[in-house]
Order: sequence, then structure tokens, then C-alpha cells
Amino acid sequence: MKFESINPFTGEKIAEYDKLDEVQLLEKLADSETAFPLWKRKSFSQKAELFQNLASILEERKEQLAELISLEMGKLREEAEAEILKCALVCRFYAENAASFLQAKEVTNELGFNYIHYDAIGGILAIMPWNFPFWQVFRFSSPALMAGNVVLLKHAPNVFGCAQMIEQLFEEAGFEKGVFQSLIVDVEEVETIMEHDHVQGVALTGSEKAGASVAMLAGKNIKRSVLELGGSDPFIVMADANIDTAVKVAVQSRMSNAGQACINAKRFLVAQEVYDEFVRKAKAIIEKLKVGNPLLADTNFSCLARIDLAENLERQLEESLEEGAKLEIGGRRDGTSFEPTLLSNVKDNMTVFREETFGPLMCVAQFDTKERALQIANASEYGLGASVWTSDKQTAMFFAQNIETGNVFINNLVKSDPRFPFGGVKRSGYGRELAEEGIKEFVNIKRIFVP
Ligand code: NAP
Repeated sequence: MKFESINPFTGEKIAEYDKLDEVQLLEKLADSETAFPLWKRKSFSQKAELFQNLASILEERKEQLAELISLEMGKLREEAEAEILKCALVCRFYAENAASFLQAKEVTNELGFNYIHYDAIGGILAIMPWNFPFWQVFRFSSPALMAGNVVLLKHAPNVFGCAQMIEQLFEEAGFEKGVFQSLIVDVEEVETIMEHDHVQGVALTGSEKAGASVAMLAGKNIKRSVLELGGSDPFIVMADANIDTAVKVAVQSRMSNAGQACINAKRFLVAQEVYDEFVRKAKAIIEKLKVGNPLLADTNFSCLARIDLAENLERQLEESLEEGAKLEIGGRRDGTSFEPTLLSNVKDNMTVFREETFGPLMCVAQFDTKERALQIANASEYGLGASVWTSDKQTAMFFAQNIETGNVFINNLVKSDPRFPFGGVKRSGYGRELAEEGIKEFVNIKRIFVP
């Protein structure tokens, strides 16, 4: 069986990849198992040196790697270059900080000496999506590997070119065979991989459906799991906010990556006093977006990564229009191309608020009191991030303390940063990536007692 990689903008086939057969998959698992004890015993400085090499390679080749991303999933070249640089950043961050995050602790008491060690646990399976085909992989792999684990990647099939390239970059940076491997498999093989004794955990970034299925497999096999799933982040604008800045960031937060990020703002809640102004100004910005080929420098909006994603967004739009939403601009789809779209008069029971919208659909509702805004914000099944716009500190604190999400950003858009934990609650998943919290997800916290 072969997987095809298709350029979503042109529809042309880029490459084909042979699926691993059973014997090849077992060989890869054996390589991973062989690599583990050797990798685990390396010092932090030895591992850090390799990650610094990897970061330099990413920085040197950012144009070439960005082009591969754009070709496989349609991201703007500029956004793809920023993604590559962020990968270099996370490599350097863990190269510099893993040793202190995982430094053994000593606790001496009346019983004697106690040491708390953080040991690697084995092979960790990374199941990753196509929307940030490099970043998602590096965000997970850098801490997992610096902790001494080895990584097996099952990437999304439309970005297998990126997956193969990442494996090659690890090799070029000097990582030994088996430490990081990309597996060209489909979801059926995930069960076999999860059952293997060497594999001790799984991290999945993707949809709720995939998350639930992988969590069941992890539970059945008593293996650790971290899930980074969808989001329907609220973007709350109070009447006392700086409206011009809020609108500009709102459009950016919805339209970046063609609206295909878990932390794109998706539900825009605007105070009734400034609602008309917000909608008018958002429309004016969206009107000016230049839609086109992601490889061209003057394009600032491209296409969706797969036709089924565009079709699903179209369904959500049509249902919401039938439910009473008003189309301000956009709304047309042609293949994977979906116009940047603005919907006003949105109510919290409409499809676009109940479901996650993974594309360029900006949906605006109005509210009268901050309590009502909070109620709508928390009515979602998801709990990944929230952005709140106000010039009043107490209002900011009210939302920060009461919103049920893993991230709250005041007067800014939600974004991840290697220095801070990232993840969600409710149906957005569990566990954390990045920072010290992220590197401790896949370690054995071992107590050693000496009387
Ligand atoms: P998806 O179907 O869940 O795919 C993501 C990955 O999971 C792919 O590698 C996919 O492989 C795999 N997968 C799917 N079903 C699986 C199963 N039953 N068992 C094991 N692996 C499985 O997601 P998508 O629809 O392509 O991507 C969009 C979704 O991902 C959105 O809901 C979005 O919010 C979420 N997402 C979340 C984050 C975050 O950080 N929280 C980041 C990005 C995206 P196949 O393609 O081979 O099925």
C-alpha cells in the first residue's frame, strides 16, 4: 500500500510513500529498543550538543524546510519559516534547561537519605497532525528525548514528506540510529505499536475522536498518555478595550494558518456597546487579505490542507446560516480554497459555536454583561485557551480566574512558548507539553532510600 502526498493548492501529487509491512515495523521497533539503553545513559551535555546541532541545521535550512511544509499542507511560506525557527528554539530551550528540570532532588530526614530521580521510561509514540507538521513533532520530541526516552513518530499521511525529512535531520545532527524514527504506517498499526513492551507512552495531538481511541489503547495497555486535542477558544472583547488593536489581533488569531490551529480564536464574544464597530472593522481587515499561492511572498491567506476539512467547514457555515447567522463577507468554497469569512449575529447554540471550526470562519456574538460572556465562554466542551480584551485589571482577573481553559491571555493572542506549560482541560485533552511540566510527563519519578 502507498500513501500519497498531494499539494492542496494545486492538487498535484508530490510524492508516494510505501507503507511499512509487519516485518519492517517490527524491525523499527527493535531498533528503537536497542537504541534506548545507550541513549538513556548519555549525559545531558552529550544530548544537548546534538540538539544544538539540530537547531543550527533547522536555522540554516529554514527556507527549504518551509517550502516543504507549504507544498504538503498549504501554509504560507512566511508562517512556515516561523514554524521552523520555533522548532530550533525548542531544541535549544531543552538543550539548555533539561538538566536543571530533571536534576535529582535530595531529601534528608530522620529516616536517612532520600533521592528523587527522574528516569527515562522507554519508547514513546508520537501521533501527530498535519497543521504544524514540524512544530508539533519538535514540541513533543525535544523534551521526551532530552529526558532520555526514544521516539517513534506516526505522522499524518498528508505530511509524510515532512516526517521523513525530520528523521533525516535528526540523523544529520548526529543522533544514533533508532533514537528518533518516523513510521510510515496508518492508524491500524497503532494498536500493535502500543502493545509492544518497549513502548511506554503515547502523546497525541489531533481530534477528540483520535484522542479517545488512543486513550483507550493506552489504558488497555497501562501506558501513559498525553492528549492535546481540539479547541474552540473564546476571544472576549469588553467595551473598555482598545478596539483597533483587539480587532487586528482577532483577525490574525482567527486567520493564521488558514484558521487551522487548535489555539486559533474561534468564538468572538463582543460587548454590545462596541459590537457594530468590531464587526465593521473586522470586515474591513478581512476584505484586504490577499488570497493565493502559499509560496508567493505577497499572499497573506492560502488554502486548507485537505478537501474534507473545507467541506466540513462549509457544512458548519451552511447550518449556521440556516440557524440565523448573518454572512458579512466570504463564504465561498472552491476545492480546498475557502474564502476568509465573517459571520455576525451568532448565537451560542449555533453549529459554529457548538462545534470546533477548523478553518477561516470568524464568528461574532454579542453579550451584555461580563457574567454572560463568561457563561458563553465556559459553555464549550473544549478548554484549551482564551483571550480577554479589557483595560480594567479587575475584569481581567475575573475572567482569568473563572475561565475553564489551560491558557488565558489578557490583551494578547494565545500562543505557545517553550518556557511555559501548554495544554487544555475538558475535551481539549490532558497533560502538558513544554516547560518543566512537559518534560516530566514521560519519566519515572523514582525514590531511592538509603537509611
Ligand atoms: P486527526 O484525524 O485526529 O489526526 C491527527 C493524527 O491522529 C493523525 O496522525 C491521524 O492519523 C491520527 N489518528 C486519527 N485517528 C486515530 C486513531 N483512531 N488512532 C490513532 N491515531 C489516529 O485530526 P485532523 O482532523 O486531521 O486534525 C485536526 C484536529 O486536530 C482538530 O480537532 C484540532 O483541534 C486538533 N489539533 C489539536 C492541537 C493541539 O495542540 N491541541 C494541535 C493541532 C490540531 P491519520 O491521519 O492516519 O488518521
